[in-house]
Amino acid sequence: MRFVELIRKKRQGGELSEQELKRLIDAYTTGELPDYQMSAFLMAVYFKSMTSKELSAWTEAMLHSGQVLDLSSITGAKVDKHSTGGVGDKVSLILAPLAVAAGLKVPMISGRGLGHTGGTLDKLESIPGFNVNQSVERFIDLVDTLGLGLIGQTGEVAPADKKIYALRDVTATVECIPLIASSIMSKKLAEGIDALILDVKVGSGAFMKHIDRARELAQTMIGIGKAMNRPVRALITDMDQPLGLTIGNSLEVIESIETLRGEGPEDLTEITIELVTEMLDVAGSVTDRDQTKRRLLELLRDGSALSVFEKIIEAQGGDASVCADTSKLPTAKHTTVLEAWEGGHINRIQAESVGIAAMELGAGRRRKEDTIDPAVGLVMNAKRGDKVEPGQPVVTIHYNDDRELDKVKTMLREAIVIGEAPTEVPPLVLDRLS
Ligand code: URA
Repeated sequence: MRFVELIRKKRQGGELSEQELKRLIDAYTTGELPDYQMSAFLMAVYFKSMTSKELSAWTEAMLHSGQVLDLSSITGAKVDKHSTGGVGDKVSLILAPLAVAAGLKVPMISGRGLGHTGGTLDKLESIPGFNVNQSVERFIDLVDTLGLGLIGQTGEVAPADKKIYALRDVTATVECIPLIASSIMSKKLAEGIDALILDVKVGSGAFMKHIDRARELAQTMIGIGKAMNRPVRALITDMDQPLGLTIGNSLEVIESIETLRGEGPEDLTEITIELVTEMLDVAGSVTDRDQTKRRLLELLRDGSALSVFEKIIEAQGGDASVCADTSKLPTAKHTTVLEAWEGGHINRIQAESVGIAAMELGAGRRRKEDTIDPAVGLVMNAKRGDKVEPGQPVVTIHYNDDRELDKVKTMLREAIVIGEAPTEVPPLVLDRLS
């Protein structure tokens, strides 16, 4: 099998066989296939796409490029959630303990933030001592005994995706639905889960700017799940403004702890409860959705979910006392307030620009190698639809270094539109697909 022939076949819109796709993935994982040939193949996929048969075979080969966890000895339904990423999206930190308190097992392998979007691992690492690098054996043990593990992608899980994603990043082949779908699904299915819920975000702060593209991505991932006998459902949710009130790692952990106490912002609480309800439903544990949602709210208010979070922090080496005293989390040296420059209603908050502003403060990475400052970030004092008077706080900036402060203020000023007329705020859940 000559690799150049496979590239040519895809370039001309042909369909590759399961064996041919597996050969490409295996050869790339071992280093036999060089970057330049895989780059050419990925670009051919970018332009000619893949049939659903090809996509399942490609994903399956990526999934089996490394270790596929076997959680079959663990009792109970193992269900995870994946978000396509957004600004202020700290849902995983609340959802995982809440789902465990409600009876599920959640083996969660997460990623880091890049550009304007944050990552669960960076948020967890702002908790002093928290170690996201656990061995696969320890991870399985945590899921078995505590119901959840919160770790980063190890070298053993879906190594083909790790290599291909890095290559896509530098060959302009990231924005391609079959490549995104196979990348996400290969990693998630390698966790050994029974089912998966997707939170596909759409809007100014999301990967997908239009709902049609978000639906297409969701349907593609659901199709891969179906081909592999794993139920996958998706919620399409709004990311046209930051989720919750905070953007920045330690600030987001504080907001997550407040939400785990039942004292979080409405949008964050609502979306988390919707997603956990879907996780329970796919596991066959829901008879009445409204009743389930009331029960989940109670598990937040009575401290059950927070207690799961405390246990996992302790088990992964972190200081669990932050749950009782959030002042133990990293705090920025300075704060300054951006005040409303005129009175009116907040008509628009360009979420991507807000995410980039937080990144400029040091809360995120411009490039993968950058280090982040866990303490810095933004607190939204007003959200879309709110009425503001001139001089009223709109955003509080938490910073350690004032070099980028003027730039950040200008970015925020341009990202937030205050208008005379009130705005209607769209629903958080825009669609459901299964
Ligand atoms: N997230 C992933 O894991 N992979 C992609 O290709 C895009 C987003």
